[in-house]
Amino acid sequence: MMYLLRCAVAPVATRRGASCPEAPQHESKSLAKLIDLKNMTNLCILLFACLVAVTTVHAQTATTTPIDRQVAITIDDLPVNGAPEAHGWITEKLVAAVVRHEVPAIGFVNEGKLYADGELVPERVALLQQWIDAGLELGNHQYAHANLHRTPLATYQQGILRGEQVTRQLMEDAGQTVRYFRHPYLRTGETLGKRDSLHAFLGAHGYEVAPVSIDNSEWIFASAYERAAQRGDTAQMARIAEAYIPYMDAKFAYFEQQEQDFLGRTMKHTLLLHANRLNADTFDALVAMMRKRGYRFITLEDALTDPAYAMPDTYAGPAGISWLHRWALTAGRRGDFFADEPATPRFVLDAAGIESE
Ligand SMILES: [Zn+2]
Repeated sequence: MMYLLRCAVAPVATRRGASCPEAPQHESKSLAKLIDLKNMTNLCILLFACLVAVTTVHAQTATTTPIDRQVAITIDDLPVNGAPEAHGWITEKLVAAVVRHEVPAIGFVNEGKLYADGELVPERVALLQQWIDAGLELGNHQYAHANLHRTPLATYQQGILRGEQVTRQLMEDAGQTVRYFRHPYLRTGETLGKRDSLHAFLGAHGYEVAPVSIDNSEWIFASAYERAAQRGDTAQMARIAEAYIPYMDAKFAYFEQQEQDFLGRTMKHTLLLHANRLNADTFDALVAMMRKRGYRFITLEDALTDPAYAMPDTYAGPAGISWLHRWALTAGRRGDFFADEPATPRFVLDAAGIESE
């Protein structure tokens, strides 16, 4: 919010010098002459005109120059994260909302979820087909949703290749290819050596890493929401959904402030969401929130043309964090830069059975 205030005021301050006449230097000697009763009326008129001009410019700035913001929506854990009996309607509702709002989203698949007792389940494959039929792209999110920091690299890499079998076939049947990989938990390697080895492997298999700039704890809200749904607690579901949109709004504000602080400009963002009941039920409100902030929706391919994504990144810490934070840490930012990140409300954490974020 602070950024929005700064942004709304700045153009006015810049233009004030041009539109509000100040005493030019060559007239300063005759300033005394101005301040006499004879000229006081003219001065008052001048000051009033100046005030009107500033007010008009301010109003025009606020209404005619909205900030052009762009975001790619990426949706993980396909086909669905949640109770299997709800996968059908969740997929239908979420895909329909994505299409209705003309969001060129990309879904990242855990192919391990397509199997039951070692057998591929056609109904689950059909859920992925719905995404493709809607013109949406699919990427690889590792077969078993493995945590790279707890998995030997070779095992993890086998899970990448095993995790593309069905998706690649579906995409190729639609004239497309699988080209993006999203690390589960955004964990990219606890050492730079492991990270770089994985990058080389991904590159050799035609993959590009799918980064996230607007990271968030939507997954905690979704877990709490799913738990409430399982026991039919509609009041609790409504309470969680009502807290979810303002929380995401605050997350956007937080990262928008950081992009200005670190980059000095707006960047093409990448938002992380998951395929779940919460987003199926709230996608309309989520889109409305983003549009209100000035966002239009772009593909991941378009987002990655932003030069920010090529910035130096030497992060190899234990957490899965925003790429904006990785670049900032690499550039030596510490402490205050990361302060005031919006927190998940206590009641949501409790409802999800999670101690802390
Ligand atoms: Zn995931």
